[in-house]
Amino acid sequence: MTAGMRSRREILGAIGAGVGLALTGLPVAGVRPAAAAGPAQVPGFYRFKVGPLTVTTLSDGNLILMPPSIYAVDAPPAELTALLEANLLPTDRVVGQANVTLIDTGEQRILFDVGSGPNFQPTAGRLATNLAAAGIDPASISTIVLTHAHPDHVWGILDGEGKVRFPNAGYVIAEPEWTFWMKEGFADTAPDPMKPFVRGAQRQLGAVAERVKRIRPGDPITPSITTIPAPGHTPGHMAVHVATEGQSLLLSADCFNHPVISLANPSWHFGFDTDPEQAVATRKRILDMAATDRLWVVGYHMPWPGLGQVARAGNGYRWIPANFTWSL
Ligand SMILES: [Zn+2]
Repeated sequence: MTAGMRSRREILGAIGAGVGLALTGLPVAGVRPAAAAGPAQVPGFYRFKVGPLTVTTLSDGNLILMPPSIYAVDAPPAELTALLEANLLPTDRVVGQANVTLIDTGEQRILFDVGSGPNFQPTAGRLATNLAAAGIDPASISTIVLTHAHPDHVWGILDGEGKVRFPNAGYVIAEPEWTFWMKEGFADTAPDPMKPFVRGAQRQLGAVAERVKRIRPGDPITPSITTIPAPGHTPGHMAVHVATEGQSLLLSADCFNHPVISLANPSWHFGFDTDPEQAVATRKRILDMAATDRLWVVGYHMPWPGLGQVARAGNGYRWIPANFTWSL
């Protein structure tokens, strides 16, 4: 440090003093910075445009899974640990995100999945709060597309009192997804670890059964929004492609679930994939599509706010998050 340079601490102190001076001149009476006052984060929603469509990602909160080998059950343990350490990630757990997407077409408000509601993990189930923060009335949602029927995607259909959270919405799900979860007796015949998932899916989907439209994966939702078959994670798992006025967006749902592990080695098996080999083929197809077409992607479990791109790296890929922008 030269004589003319001030220490970092002095500079920060000076900036702090400047802020303090500036604030004393502001008319702060009556202003209550509620979000900043407590220990909680500011509510999570993030908006951007795709052509004429307004896209809002809404945080349903965090999901915590442990150990990280759930994301790569067949990976050599030392290789997985080395990958996590190289990315400065904890080796005992994964703190993932749950990013719900809303597309406002001007005529319709279409929600893609509904988060996990109040009965899954205490760090999740925040969609209702963040919809309110974004000024979105649940009654204004016209269509809900369910990418698949896992807890973190459908358990938010009902609120804590068991009431339907989106009173005017119609639901869309893939026919094979509905058939898989809703088959009679499945809550008793499913493998034990899966039973809570089956009971939950049947309770949530059953509550809105008469409002559910079953489609073939690949069918369109609107002229500019089309589903993509993405089986393997679950039998009727779907991604979504949005294309309008020369712009596009991919909602990758659960084709890849960890921003490092799933992309660095897409061949590794994710513990929650129903058909691991089929899921690997789907993962590779979707990642190849995203990288080749340089698509903007919203990943349901990618780092908040979920928007980014996929680049090739070695034998795999890497996730490149979008830069935050204030303008639509
Ligand atoms: Zn998921």
